[in-house]
Formats: sequence, C-alpha cells, structure tokens
Amino acid sequence: MENNLVTTAYIVASALFILSLAGLSQPETAKRGNLLGILGMAIAFAATAAISQGYPIQIGSIGLGVLVGVLAASRVAMTDMPEMVALLNSFVGLAAVLVGFAEYLQPSAALSGGDVIVHRVEIYIGVFIGIVTFTGSMIAVAKLRGWVPSRAVLLPARHVLTLGMLGAIAALGFPFLTATGDVPMIALGAMTAIAGIFGIVIVMAIGGADMAVVISLLNSYSGLASAAAGFMLNNDLLIITGALVGSSGAILSYIMCKGMNRSFINVVLGGFGETASGTSKTAIEGSATSTSTGDVVDLLDNAQNVVIVPGYGMAVAQAQHAVAEITRLLRSQGKQVRFGIHPVAGRMPGHMNVLLAEANVPYDIVLEMDEINDDFPHTDLVLVIGANDTVNPSAKYDPGSAIAGMPVMEVWEASTVVVLKRGMSSGYAGVENPLFFNENTLMLFGDAKTNVNGILAQLSTTNAPAPALSVA
Ligand code: NDP
Repeated sequence: MENNLVTTAYIVASALFILSLAGLSQPETAKRGNLLGILGMAIAFAATAAISQGYPIQIGSIGLGVLVGVLAASRVAMTDMPEMVALLNSFVGLAAVLVGFAEYLQPSAALSGGDVIVHRVEIYIGVFIGIVTFTGSMIAVAKLRGWVPSRAVLLPARHVLTLGMLGAIAALGFPFLTATGDVPMIALGAMTAIAGIFGIVIVMAIGGADMAVVISLLNSYSGLASAAAGFMLNNDLLIITGALVGSSGAILSYIMCKGMNRSFINVVLGGFGETASGTSKTAIEGSATSTSTGDVVDLLDNAQNVVIVPGYGMAVAQAQHAVAEITRLLRSQGKQVRFGIHPVAGRMPGHMNVLLAEANVPYDIVLEMDEINDDFPHTDLVLVIGANDTVNPSAKYDPGSAIAGMPVMEVWEASTVVVLKRGMSSGYAGVENPLFFNENTLMLFGDAKTNVNGILAQLSTTNAPAPALSVA
C-alpha cells in the first residue's frame, strides 16, 4: 500500500516536472512553470521522506540545505546568477560522486551474481560524470568570476593528454569491476582523480564567448549525474528528473551552438580542435566619437525606426526599467521600437528576456537575432545598451578573431548606432570591438542606467503635452 502511494506520488511529481519544463519554455508561462516545478519537488520530497529512515539526520541536513539555499538565492544579484547556476551544477556532480562511493562501500540493497557487476558499472559511470561535472563547474565559476582567465587556456599536447586521460579512465574500469580486496577502491579513487583533472582541462580549454554553451552543457551533465545516482539508488524519480535535466540541457546547448555557429562536438569535448584564440593581427584604426544624452534625445526625436540591443552591461546597470519607459514613450509617439536579442547576450540563457519581461516590455517587440538582423539596413537608430561581444563586427569580418564565425547583431548596418558603456574596455571574450570606431557610431560613455535615465528625463520634458492656452 505504502509503495503504491509512493509510486503514485512519483508519477504525479514526474508529470509536474514535465509540465514545468513546458511552462518554462515561454516567458508568458514561465512563472506557472516554476510553480509546477516547486510543487513537483515538494511531492517528490514528501514521498521520499515517507519511505526513508534516519529522520534526525535527514531533517537536520535538509533544514540546513533549505536555509543555505534560501539565503543564497535571495541574496544573489541577477548578474551573479550564472555563477550560482554553475555552483549548483557542481553540487549535483559532487552529490553523485559521494553517492557512488557510499554505494560502493555500503550498497543500499543486497546484490549477488551479475547484479553486482551492473551495480559497479552504474557506480563507475555515475562517479565519472559526477566528478567531471563538479570540477568543470568549479572552473566555470572561476572563469565567470574572473578568478581564472576567461579566454581558452590550451595546454601543450592537450589532445594527447585528453586521450591519455580517457584511456586511463577506461582502463581503470577493468580492475574496479573484476578485482577483489582493496583494488576496486583504489581504482575508483584513481579514476576520480584523473576524471577530476579531465573536467578542469576541458573547461579551461573553452574560450570566453563559448562559456554560455558550457554552462548549459554542465547543467545537462548535472542531469546525467542525477540520473546515474538514480540508477545507483534504484530511485525511478531521480532517473526521470535527471533524464529531463540532461536532455533539455543538451538540447539547449545544441541550439546555442547552432546559434553561435560552433561545433557541438568540439564544445562537448572541451574546445577540441580549437586553435589558440585571439590571433587577430587586424589593428583597429580611427578614433571613437563620444556623444551626449541631449544629442541622443535629438536622434531619437528624428528617428522613426529604433532598435534597442541590450547586453550584459544593461543587467549590471539595472537599466531595464528606464529602457522600458523610453520604449513606451517613443511608441506612444507612433515610432517603431523593437528589441534585438542575441542568443548569448548577458551571462545566462534568456538573461535579456528575463530583464525585459521584469520591466513589462511587450513580448511581441522582443525579437531574436535571426528575426531582426536583416532589418538593420532599414533602421534609423540602434541603441546598444551594455552589449559588446554580441555586436562585434570582427566576428564576421576578421577570421583571426577569437570570436570569428559567431553570428552577431549586425547593428553597424543601421544609419546611426549609439553605444552606451562606461569606457572602451572589451567584452567577456576579451576581443577589441571595431564597431566603436565606425563613422556612424557614437559612444555615450557612463553608467547605462544614469544615461538612460538622463535620456528619459529629457525625452519626457521635450515631449510633455503643451500647457493649455489660458483664455483671458
Ligand atoms: P559583453 O560581456 O560582451 O559586454 C558587456 C559590456 O557592458 C562591457 O563591455 C562593459 O563595458 C559594459 N558595461 C558593464 N557595466 C556597465 C554599466 N554599468 N553601464 C554601461 N555599460 C556597462 O556583453 P554581451 O551581452 O554583448 O555578450 C555576452 C558575452 O558573455 C558573450 O561573449 C557570451 O558568450 C558570454 N557569456 C554568455 C553567457 C550566456 O549564457 N548568455 C554565459 C557566459 C558567458 P564597460 O566596462 O566599458 O562599461
């Protein structure tokens, strides 16, 4: 009876997780998706707790986990979300490693014959995926935080090294599966150490602009690690949730790779086949022209077609609400205002969409790169707000650039481009941007929020309805 109830609860939770994923695929339904996910997790947790033993330890550890999770999630800045996601991915990986070792030392079910081998295969694969997810995610956190260089760090003879490590990991599986005594434990420990280094090497080899794909890929690996833990513990719900996270993460990574014209296999294998990045010899000539908020207001007054291209800087400055106000004002004057979103703008998938949704920008004027790129030649004015790599023409015109081949927003095709940023520094990929030196580009230096607020204030004054004439 108890088992039937738990099975039913697991089925309900699985269905809620699937509905949650479906909801999360659209901004309009994302909140509902989130709530369904929370409900599914609450049911899953209650059902698992009902069949578990050792309540004091369980309640204590879960209580501590909930406390740390709530504190961390409520304090994290939106701009630090990618690090948080990478850190959480690493925890899932570490959990799979610990479950693997625990299952080896003290299997949760009595096994005999062929089942022992199958169980050890599950442990070996689970620990392997878990440790790669753990160390890879930790390097991703370090790269996003700027603790290690965000550019690709390529070791000499790294292909030989990578293949050597994979060979050693495969070879160690044999004694782990077949030997007796202390040998399997030594083999498992050695494999964990080598696979840990493997995770570090492959993520270090990935360049700044590809980090977006890596985060979603590590998220997918964390799903696989959960599924592996599910096999080890014989827990169907863990297998289902792991498979959902693993497959959706893999699909997202594939879509992002396609969007960025990167080979999925190369990124999966950690920059395999990547050449040393940043070999561009093209020197940027000319000087940048700076402008003022007043001049930008004049440009906006004279423009009929405006495209706003936001990037990471808009998130840092938290300028989205003022940007949304400007949009409403211009649209109320009958101007066409649209947003162009690059697939990897910001620091996490959908980062810009989340910010714009938060500021109540209508979804139908938020267009993806493919939908808007052909319109730039017919656009009067583009406002680039804190975007850099995603509007860098060298991706298209400089084959030696570290971001060569990555599709970008072709904003330079518009009549005039205004770039809002604080200085001339490069973006996340560390590549200089020739856009800033173009004749039709004006630089509005300073914090994006301060400048957008300045533009909004002047626009509101110049466009305020004229005071009614008093009739004497
Ligand atoms: P970039 O990181 O290329 O550039 C952001 C720009 O914002 C900087 O050049 C900075 O210039 C400017 N900026 C920072 N703070 C402010 C501020 N307060 N006011 C005004 N400007 C500011 O951003 P993009 O969005 O164009 O590109 C995203 C990059 O991040 C890509 O390389 C992508 O691959 C990578 N990435 C994306 C992830 C994702 O999932 N989306 C995850 C990991 C990496 P200045 O200092 O001069 O102000």
